[in-house]
Amino acid sequence: MSITLRAVNNDLNIAIAIVDITDTLQENIDLQSTNFLTSTMLGKFICTSILTNLNNKDSQLETRFQLTTDGLLEQLSVDIYDNHYRGKVKNILLDPSSLDLKKDIYDQMLGTEGQIAQYKIREGLILSESAIEISGSDIDTNAMIFTKKSEQINNIIATTTIINEDNKVIRSCGIMIHMLPGFTNENVTFLETKIGNTRYMKEVLAKTMNYNNLVEDIAPGSKILRVSDDLKYKCKCSYDKSLSFIELLQPSDIQEIIDNKEEPEIVCEFCGKKYRISLSDINI
Ligand SMILES: [Zn+2]
Repeated sequence: MSITLRAVNNDLNIAIAIVDITDTLQENIDLQSTNFLTSTMLGKFICTSILTNLNNKDSQLETRFQLTTDGLLEQLSVDIYDNHYRGKVKNILLDPSSLDLKKDIYDQMLGTEGQIAQYKIREGLILSESAIEISGSDIDTNAMIFTKKSEQINNIIATTTIINEDNKVIRSCGIMIHMLPGFTNENVTFLETKIGNTRYMKEVLAKTMNYNNLVEDIAPGSKILRVSDDLKYKCKCSYDKSLSFIELLQPSDIQEIIDNKEEPEIVCEFCGKKYRISLSDINI
């Protein structure tokens, strides 16, 4: 199970949010057949998307975050709905050996030009859209700029995703600190001396899974508002949806499938899962 935690500290005028998808990211990257480099980028983008979305007040709406770049990855997408998320890398064939190790790997993979867009979706219809131009190839920095622009709140976002060379998830988690109204220069000084820079938070995140202690360490006296451990990886595809896709074909095409006596295979465009449809299930 994956975790989200929210806390508030009224003395420091900050809200803290934490996400940990270490236990569920593996399923996502196994289905996508990503390699350890693309998995790392995807893990980070999922973490920043979930953190950004924690302020989404209308939980009935599905949110899609999409990073489209001139980098080799081309596009990262994350859908968040109910307590589920699903992430996708467009160019899963990206070959790590094609990277020039003398140059910045993030620049090559994520590009330096492009945009992050957020779509609010209900029943497949896009109800609203907001986007920013990306600024460099750091996912956390771009998420901070996005949150600042879309919600007019200053924030610090730091995520860490560690994938080993066998594409196994070691850690994938992130933290966001929001400055609340009333935030003073004194509060800034406190945070700067305490947290220093986002590298400190990344190091701490990679070490601990005791988030209550982490929150207390960053901001003593914080009140934990909500801890939830029901966040899951889940795509929207299913056997029944794949079956209805077949049944929407022209009757002559369906007849051809049946005559061929070969069970058709439907591959989900998003997650890559394969569904083999039993001929006896097809209604004509
Ligand atoms: Zn799927």
